[in-house]
Amino acid sequence: MAASNGESPRTLQNFIFGKYVDPIQAASCKYIPVTTPHTGKVIAQCPLSTAEDIDKAVESAKEAFKTWGARTVKDRVQFLIRFHNLLYTHIDELADLIVLEHGKNKAEAMASIAKGAETVEYAMSLPQLIQGKILDVSRGVTCNDTRVPLGVVASIVPFNFPIMVPMWSLPIAIATGNTLILKPSEKVPLTMNRVIALLKEAGIPDGVVNLVNGTVDAVNAICDHPDIKAVTFVGTSHVANLVTERCQKLEKRVLALGGAKNHLIASPDCNIETTSTDVVNSFSGCAGQRCMAASVLLIIGSQPELLERIIVKATALQSGSKSGEVGPVIDRASLDKITSYIEASERGGAKILVDGRPWTQSHAEGFWIGPTVILHSNKEDKALHDEIFGPVLSIYQCANKEEAIEIENNNPYGNAACIYTTTGATAEWFISRFGAAMCGVNIGVPVPREPFSFGGINRSKFGNFVDITGDGGVEFFTWRRKVTTRWGQENLDPKLRM
Ligand code: NAD
Repeated sequence: MAASNGESPRTLQNFIFGKYVDPIQAASCKYIPVTTPHTGKVIAQCPLSTAEDIDKAVESAKEAFKTWGARTVKDRVQFLIRFHNLLYTHIDELADLIVLEHGKNKAEAMASIAKGAETVEYAMSLPQLIQGKILDVSRGVTCNDTRVPLGVVASIVPFNFPIMVPMWSLPIAIATGNTLILKPSEKVPLTMNRVIALLKEAGIPDGVVNLVNGTVDAVNAICDHPDIKAVTFVGTSHVANLVTERCQKLEKRVLALGGAKNHLIASPDCNIETTSTDVVNSFSGCAGQRCMAASVLLIIGSQPELLERIIVKATALQSGSKSGEVGPVIDRASLDKITSYIEASERGGAKILVDGRPWTQSHAEGFWIGPTVILHSNKEDKALHDEIFGPVLSIYQCANKEEAIEIENNNPYGNAACIYTTTGATAEWFISRFGAAMCGVNIGVPVPREPFSFGGINRSKFGNFVDITGDGGVEFFTWRRKVTTRWGQENLDPKLRM
């Protein structure tokens, strides 16, 4: 495996029709260095595949679809059961890869694999869930509907969950009979480049899942390819929008999840101890690089005791890769962006209650920034509105619940929102007014777990308006064939004949 201590960086390949292969234009192919955020050292070289490589992957997926699409769902999920088992037998190795290339601590990496495995479990249960419907709609006339795979589909994923996010699409896409082209993030390609071999080990036939590394050119070629019938994307809202428009020009099915700015609200009756712990875990976990992370805390009233507990708990966090420690952020660009938001807030008069910037100096190398808590007095501060994607919590004290909900509702994104309260009526008041699609009561990362579907609203989701996991995923990756049948009255039992 690659390179963290003196070995030369590994050069990655694509995985097409069951084999690791070099990009087609190997001699002229450009590569992008993959770094470990702990030190910034180069650990691998990721090829920038072109439209020709996408073509090759489509050819492979089309060939595989001829037999894979014709199998029964019961048959197809047998492979996923074996794959699920392999994910767990290799969990330690895979978690180490995530720690190396992404920077999550080991416990976070393990938990993210387990979450990914949950979506595999959902797909494993599809034979029990997607029988279709049948009904006598008139005497002697029945209607049935069954789900049909689309063909070749593609999944484009971000850096922040190297296994979990690919598992939002891969298991359902293939269990429902499609064949897949996956483009991992060029920032963390090692993990899925390893997982693809586990899919092969699970016996999944060649060509059912293909992996093509790359960035913009590979993504554009996926969107433009006429034989790719549907595309899922997860990443920033800007790119989600570009991908959606590009696919929709070709009338292609597309589901593109974008960025987020999540608001947590602390009602004056919240439990200070559990609220402060949960808020700190939410904004600092995975170094704040979660689309469901707390980003803004709206405190109703001043609640000095809650503020104090948050400061104490955030200040106590240590850097590192052990359980409970905060890892680095993904790269220099991300570190610079996060720092610039803290500086702009400070210049604008906000108080930096906990300052993570000293971590950048205290680590000689890598991309480190500690948990940072900012108390804003100006509602217009950009840190209160833009997605920062780092371990930064912006706090604003609101006069009342109406002001808090107005701020949350004006947020252009719509992934998560949470109310901390010990009163059911307060919880209901907020839940029925939140503008976000994934809401929490006393839960700072309110990810709906299987069988519930994952997905936001507004600038957090573009394209076809289903959710990405659960029944939303099944709907996205299939079309419904409706069959109306009449064999004639004479075949009916005379007692039923009219
Ligand atoms: P990103 O948009 O930079 O990259 C995502 C994918 O798009 C990558 O595979 C990348 O190679 C490709 N890409 C990048 N720029 C492109 C361009 N100009 N044209 C075509 N393709 C391009 O996102 P990221 O930084 O890898 O991931 C972080 C973002 O993902 C955050 O905004 C986060 O909120 C979001 N995210 C959202 C969800 C969700 O469920 N809504 C989940 C996870 C992450």
